[in-house]
Amino acid sequence: MQGLLIETVEPGSPADRAGLLPGQRLLEIDGTRLRDLIDYSWLASDDPAELTIATEDGSNRIVLLEPDPGEPPGLTFAPPEPKRCGNNCIFCFVHQLPKGLRRPLYVKDEDYRLSFLQGTYVTLSNLKATELRRIVTQRLSPLYISVHAVDPAVRERLLGRSNIPPILEQLKELARARIEMHTQVVLCPAVNDGPVLEQTVQELAALYPAVRSLAVVPVGLTEHRQRLPELTPVDRSYAAAFLDHWLPRMRHLNRQLGDAFLQLADEFFLKANYPIPALKEYGDLPQWENGVGMVAWFLKDASAVLKRARPLPSIRATVVTGQSAVGFVDRFLAELSDKTGCQLTSAAIPNQLFGASVTVTGLVSGRDIIAELRDKQPGQLLLIPEVMLKEGEGCFLDNLTPRDLIRELGLAVIAFEPTPSGLYKALRGLTPKKLKAVLLTAAD
Ligand code: SF4
Repeated sequence: MQGLLIETVEPGSPADRAGLLPGQRLLEIDGTRLRDLIDYSWLASDDPAELTIATEDGSNRIVLLEPDPGEPPGLTFAPPEPKRCGNNCIFCFVHQLPKGLRRPLYVKDEDYRLSFLQGTYVTLSNLKATELRRIVTQRLSPLYISVHAVDPAVRERLLGRSNIPPILEQLKELARARIEMHTQVVLCPAVNDGPVLEQTVQELAALYPAVRSLAVVPVGLTEHRQRLPELTPVDRSYAAAFLDHWLPRMRHLNRQLGDAFLQLADEFFLKANYPIPALKEYGDLPQWENGVGMVAWFLKDASAVLKRARPLPSIRATVVTGQSAVGFVDRFLAELSDKTGCQLTSAAIPNQLFGASVTVTGLVSGRDIIAELRDKQPGQLLLIPEVMLKEGEGCFLDNLTPRDLIRELGLAVIAFEPTPSGLYKALRGLTPKKLKAVLLTAAD
């Protein structure tokens, strides 16, 4: 399909005044063909422009967009269809998914445009020379790049394919064009740790500040790895030895560079049961989505919430969490209960869907919550962090919804923004009237 599919037209906006409608396709701006959203943001301005539109009846027409100075066009578009990934990474999480999850979870994408637009990681293994030129010309910066290892043979082993372009050359070319890059290594013990990781860190640090950050995250292994290469998990003793070696090196390197360049995933600290570094060690949290700096941020937010917390209408509630976060969550809930007069406890849900080694909150399924709480007495209300639900659709990974939990467990369910502030805000929003309505819904 050519052009961009118009998803919404803001009432009263220049696009609305020009008669554009959702469902039409925007083909050209001032005679220049649009390949995707990046071309659109490159070409769109608040100057008058001629738009070529494909209407739903199949005809093309030209409309004049006449925004006032500084006025946005008022259009949103459907997200681009991502390019499919041609790699076969030995640790790919998609290959380790059980059957029966939401269909989009099984899609493997690898698209530099999404790296720029949404911050998703790409390996650049499928990047064509024309695409590299486009990144440079249109200044698609920052990009998020999965390096894993700069050693070509080790990288090919990790990506499960041969004849991939040398990553270091690609990074150097992007660095010369002053494209900012955030990078990651998924650490697989005995594959890309030891001297391989030393070399990767050294080469990427040499490209600072173009390579702005490097996160090292432990490989995630589920119980669904039949017919996949055998990999060693990062367990408690490995995580402790890894931090003993790398934490002083990280601090030394970051002091030298004057920036939070090298960042080690929260999971290493949680697994090893080591103290969490201060929030300032994570800079402006460029690797947040990668699970790096989240715990430090949680602790800071929790302390701010506890300072301002006030008594609230009494309620007995259970806060659902993954097993890795339960220590921090429990301490916060105990203090928040003292301050508010609520009885708040946690339920750390064992992950039966992916297996016991998967302990993060975002991968808890609806069925696992029901299985864990069915024979317990979790109070009047269940509080679910929104990270467990698909944005915009409100369902868990296994397609169950909060309504299924209400029906199966017979208690009220509320989703909250997954931070201490978000939890406190949800509790404060429960006025006696709203609480009664929520509880009555559960009793229906
Ligand atoms: S790049 Fe590797 S980990 Fe990512 S989707 Fe492709 S195969 Fe999976």
